[in-house]
Amino acid sequence: MYQDGWIPTVCYQCKAECAILARVENGVVKEVKGNPRGRGKACVKGMAGITSLYSSERLKHPMKRVGERGSGKFERITWDEAMDIMETKLTELRDRGEAHKFTYSMFPHSVTDPKWRFVNASGGFISTGLPHCDSGKIMAMMHTFGCFPNHHIAPMYHTVPKGGLMILSGRHPFGCLDDAAVPGYILDAKERGAKLIVIDPIYRTEASKADWWIPIKPGGDASLFLGVCNYLLLNDLHDKKFCDKWVREGDMDGLMAYIKDKTPEAMSKICDVPVEDIIKLAKMVADAPSACIDAFKSIMYGNAMDWGHAWTIFLVITGNLDNPGGQPLPEIAPMAPVEPVPSAPDVTELGYHRSGNNREKFDNYNFFLQPTWYAAQAIKDDTLKVFFASECNPALSEMGSGEWRKAVTMKDENGDYKLELLVVTEIMPSETMKWADLVLPDQTNFERWELLYMPWWYNFGHCAALCQPVVKPIGESRHANRVFIELGQRMFPEYFAFKDDVEYYDIELSGVGMSVKELQENGGLWSPGAVGFRKYEDDGKFNTPSGKIELEWQMYEDIGQKWPSPELPLEYRRGEDEFPFILVNFRTIFLNNTGAWSQNNAQLRDPVSGLDANPCLLNPLDAKKLGIVDGDTVTMASGTGSVEVPVMLTEKIVPGCAGIIHGFGQTMGKVASRGKWISDNELIADAGSTLDEQDMRGGEAHVSTRVKIYK
Ligand code: SF4
Repeated sequence: MYQDGWIPTVCYQCKAECAILARVENGVVKEVKGNPRGRGKACVKGMAGITSLYSSERLKHPMKRVGERGSGKFERITWDEAMDIMETKLTELRDRGEAHKFTYSMFPHSVTDPKWRFVNASGGFISTGLPHCDSGKIMAMMHTFGCFPNHHIAPMYHTVPKGGLMILSGRHPFGCLDDAAVPGYILDAKERGAKLIVIDPIYRTEASKADWWIPIKPGGDASLFLGVCNYLLLNDLHDKKFCDKWVREGDMDGLMAYIKDKTPEAMSKICDVPVEDIIKLAKMVADAPSACIDAFKSIMYGNAMDWGHAWTIFLVITGNLDNPGGQPLPEIAPMAPVEPVPSAPDVTELGYHRSGNNREKFDNYNFFLQPTWYAAQAIKDDTLKVFFASECNPALSEMGSGEWRKAVTMKDENGDYKLELLVVTEIMPSETMKWADLVLPDQTNFERWELLYMPWWYNFGHCAALCQPVVKPIGESRHANRVFIELGQRMFPEYFAFKDDVEYYDIELSGVGMSVKELQENGGLWSPGAVGFRKYEDDGKFNTPSGKIELEWQMYEDIGQKWPSPELPLEYRRGEDEFPFILVNFRTIFLNNTGAWSQNNAQLRDPVSGLDANPCLLNPLDAKKLGIVDGDTVTMASGTGSVEVPVMLTEKIVPGCAGIIHGFGQTMGKVASRGKWISDNELIADAGSTLDEQDMRGGEAHVSTRVKIYK
C-alpha cells in the first residue's frame, strides 16, 4: 500500500493541521512541503515532523505501570492485555451505575473523531484541555450571532482590501497555532496597502512587522475596544445602516446607554493605552474599508467573556461581519452520521463537574465540552474514576498542573487510588505518561488514517482533508482512533458495526458525496468551492432566538452580565503589593505545545538551529529597581507556586510584566529534560479550586496571575 513520491497527508506538529505533501523514498519520509491543492504552505516546525517520526524516543509497545503512580516504572504488555484492562474497568464502572465518572481528555480536532463516539456510547464525557482556551470567544459569538466560530475562524487575510485594518490583539500567528499560510497572507495584505496593528504587552515578530504596535496592560483589551466603541458611537462614526437592519430592536438603545461612560479617558485608566491612541485607533477604524480582530491571549484571561462580548459589539457597530477583511462566519459541510448514533450526555444533568460539590457554581457555565482543568477537583470529590488522555498533557499543560498531579496519586481509606484508571496514548514520553497506569503507543501523522473536518478550522473550515499513512508504522504503535474503534467493537458492537477507521470515514464522507479513495485521488482534499460572504443576507436572518444580532445578553441579567465589564481580570486587580508583576506567557515557532505533537523533537530544541532556553523576559526599568542584571537566576513566585528562572532583560516587554514561553517544564524524555525549562502552569492556580474567579460563562483564566520576582 505504501508508495514512493510526493504523497498528500496532513501535518500534525501543531493544531493548525496544514495539508502537506510528504516525499517518500524507499519507504522513508525525506521531506515535507505544503500541499498546493490546499494552502500550499508548511512551516519550519512542520518540516521537523520527520524528526518526531524517526525519533529514538518513540514509544513502541503498550506498557503497564509497575511502580507507584508517578514513579515512571512500566513493563511491556500486549495490545490484548491493554484492551482487557480498559474493557474490564469501564464495564465495572457501568455496572456500578457510574458510567458518567469516565472522561476522555483529548484535542477534538475533528468532529469526525471516533473517540468522541466511543465516549458517547460508554456514557462518559469528552473533556478538553484546548478549545476552552478560547471558549470565551466561542460563547460570545454564539450569544451575539448564533454561531460558534472560535479563533480558528480568524480573519481571511487574503481578502483584506487596500486600506483595511488587521488588528492582532495578543495574537502570535507568526509563532504558530495558525496555519502556515497566515503569515504570508498578512504580509501580502500589507503589500496591497492594508495596515497591521498589533496590540500586545510584548513586542514579538508580529509587532516588528506592524504599522503600529500598541503596548497594553494584559487583560485590557475589553476596555480598549469599549473605548473605541464609545468614540465611534458618540461621534456617529458607526455603521448605522448595518445596525438598523440587523440588530435586534432595542439593543442599540441599550448599547448607547451602557457605552456612555466607557469614554476613552475612563478606559485608558484601565488598559494603560493613552487616550489619544484610543481615539486615533477609533478614527482609523472609521476611515478603513474593513477592520478585523484576531486574538488569543485576551481570550485566555479571566475576563475572556467580557472581551469576547466587547469584540462582537465592535464587529457589529463597524459592520465587519462576514465581509472581505472582516470576521468570517462558518459554513458547515454535511458529513453523514454513522448510524446508529449514540446520544451525547445531557450536559445539564451529568458530567463529573456538574454532579460534584461545586455543581451550583457551574450553573452558568454552558460550554459544550467539559474542561479538563476540573479533573483534580473531581477526583478529590469522587466524581471522576477513569481518565483517558490523547494529544493532551494535563500533568504539565493545565492550569494548576501540580494539583492535577497530586490528585491522581490520592488514595482512599483502603489504600486504593481514588482515580481508578489513567490511560494515556502518546507518541513519545510525556509528563502525563509518568502518572499513567497504561501507556498506549500512538502514531504520527505519517503512519495513520484520519479524516479531518472541523467547521471552524482555518484549514478545514471549508474543506475536509485526509491524513493517510505514507510509511509503515514504527513498532507496535496504533493510532488512538483505531484503538478506540476496536474497544468500541468489543464493548458497544451496536454502535461500532463497521470494519475499521477507513470504512467509518467513508460513511462520514458520503455526506459530501466522497469516499476515502476519492479523497486520495483528489489530492487529499475536499472543498465545496468558494467561500461566501454575508451569508446572513441569503438567509435573511441570524441563528439567534430573535433572528437578529443580539448585543444585549438578556440571559445573564440575573448575574449582572447583560453587557461586558471593562475591568481587568479579577486576578490582576488584587495582590498588587505582594505580587507586583503580571505574568504574560507567549508562544514560539520552535515549540507549540506539550501534547503528542512537537514535544521531544530534538530538531526544535537544538541549541544551534532552534531554541534551547526559556528565560523570563523583564523590562530593564523593573530589573534596575530589583537589583537584577541580565542572566541572573531569580525566583518567580505566585500565590500558587514558584519556579527558578534565568532573566533576560529586554525593552520588548512593558514594565510591570514578566514574560515566559508557555508549555515547558517536562522532565520525561531526553530532549525535554535538557535545559532550563520553566512551566508557567506551576504558577497558575488550579481553576477548579478558584471557581469563583473563573468566568463561568465560557472563559477560564488560563494565564491570569500575578507574580513576585526576587534573587
Ligand atoms: S503551522 Fe502547524 S500544522 Fe502547519 S505546517 Fe506548521 S506545524 Fe504543521
